[in-house]
Amino acid sequence: MLAEEGEPELLEEGLWRIPIPLPFALRSANIYLLADGPRNWTLIDAGLGLPADESALHAGLAFAGIRLEQITTLILTHSHPDHIGLSGPIHDASGAPVYMLAGEDQTMYSVWGQSSEETSQALGAMYIAHGLTPEQLASGRQAPDRTRRVLRLPPRESLITVDDGEELRLGNHVYLAIWTPGHSDRHLCLLRDDHIFIAGDHILPGITPNIGWYPNGRPNPLSDYFQALQKVRDLPARLVLPGHRLPFTQLAERVDELRLHHEERSQRIHSLLEEAGSHGLPAAAVARSLFGDRLRTADDLRFALAESLAHLEYLRAEGQASRLQHDGHFVYLAVNR
Ligand SMILES: [Zn+2]
Repeated sequence: MLAEEGEPELLEEGLWRIPIPLPFALRSANIYLLADGPRNWTLIDAGLGLPADESALHAGLAFAGIRLEQITTLILTHSHPDHIGLSGPIHDASGAPVYMLAGEDQTMYSVWGQSSEETSQALGAMYIAHGLTPEQLASGRQAPDRTRRVLRLPPRESLITVDDGEELRLGNHVYLAIWTPGHSDRHLCLLRDDHIFIAGDHILPGITPNIGWYPNGRPNPLSDYFQALQKVRDLPARLVLPGHRLPFTQLAERVDELRLHHEERSQRIHSLLEEAGSHGLPAAAVARSLFGDRLRTADDLRFALAESLAHLEYLRAEGQASRLQHDGHFVYLAVNR
């Protein structure tokens, strides 16, 4: 019988999924608890940080018969808010070190720490340059600050960074760290030696991970993503633990679906540019054409714009699109070869 998405579940001996409620369309994020030895308890990811998340984490740990103080390791797959929010309280209660891929820790503190005015200005300038109106930008401008108040980050000295290909020995197990850029620049997947694959938001079932282009980020995140899909496709994963939704088994199949989805979307965007002819299109217009009335909130619009930009920059790198700038505003044009 299929588990309810919102209930903690024992996936197999020594492995629990603890769903954490989210106040947006994704509904929930997963925290995983893994027994790595008699006194070794590893948590993967840390929810958003709302009081409801904290209750869900405590309930999930109680279901597993573990107290927060017993956690010995916390691993964060990436720095998005719905994966890091309780990392501070988890570290405070347990003293567990917090592992991230090198570089993603800096992103976490620069985007979500105190001094993020610079980041938000660069983002605002990007949204305007790619076709959002100042009104669209203003609506929802407070959203990042609201999120920032919810997140409780650990002190910097609790962080241990790992590199691509590094092996982590935790209790009786060895985890292979795998750099999987695309959804975030320094996204971390891990393969445990018993072939449990920790996917974070790199591979999700039923929904496609958002791949967005951001100022100061890597220049071609969609190309990164395609390569990172290939990198994990043929791993000997017997169970995939995604950051959202339910665990699944067919990794290669899901990788192929995700690749196809993004290839089709790129080709659709190329067609939109062709239809626009010599006027070209700003990224915001591409986003509206692609997502239409699925864009309900200011956040939706920003994510859609960043995702459209990831595709447009990919097409540009592939020689299928070009970009022109007029008075600080960008438009993209189809290149036909
Ligand atoms: Zn994410």
